[in-house]
Amino acid sequence: MKKIVIATANKKKKKELKALLKELKVKLLSLNDLPNIPKIKEGGKTFKENAVKKAVITSEFTDKLTMADDSGLEVDALGGRPGVFSARFSGKGANDPKNNKKLLRMLRAVPSHKRKATFKCVIAMAKRGVVLKVVEGKCRGLIGFQRRGENGFGYDPVFIFPKLGKTFAELGPRAKNMISHRAKALRKAKKFIADYFRIYS
Ligand code: IMP
Repeated sequence: MKKIVIATANKKKKKELKALLKELKVKLLSLNDLPNIPKIKEGGKTFKENAVKKAVITSEFTDKLTMADDSGLEVDALGGRPGVFSARFSGKGANDPKNNKKLLRMLRAVPSHKRKATFKCVIAMAKRGVVLKVVEGKCRGLIGFQRRGENGFGYDPVFIFPKLGKTFAELGPRAKNMISHRAKALRKAKKFIADYFRIYS
């Protein structure tokens, strides 16, 4: 079976990626499957910088096509924050509930029409230290006034998809995977991966 390395140790992310890449019939190897590959510190100013860095460095430890994503939430009323700091928004010991709590607190006095936000996902693909492709996906929504729903991860419980009037956490994986920033980026990545295996296998 064809194999791709994904530069993440996040099990929930792997699950989403697996569902989204199902029809390609490729096995995803995460950093949990490959303990010899170090987890790379992000530290960049943009999602693209981080995704490229993770893909390039990780790909130097394997002969497989390597995919890395960087994603996060940009809130209009906060001038695009938390952005690349999404995972670490609430500081030391940050986790999803703390990040959501901080975001809701900061937006306490912000009215509905000013609560627009964008989820962004950049995916970079690399092989043996060389970037082969970078793609991006976006999803526009609104930040709610409280957490709603139990599915997903990160900011899913506070991110409302306006067309459906539900948070990503209320939607469940199948619906989220049709509309999310990651799904959009992956649709583009998928085309590249399919071509890659057609040419090189
Ligand atoms: P990273 O891409 O692993 O660096 O994670 C970025 C952070 O952005 C995550 O820890 C979440 O807080 C947030 N994030 C990225 N994608 C999503 C999503 O699909 N749902 C909710 N939060 C997300």
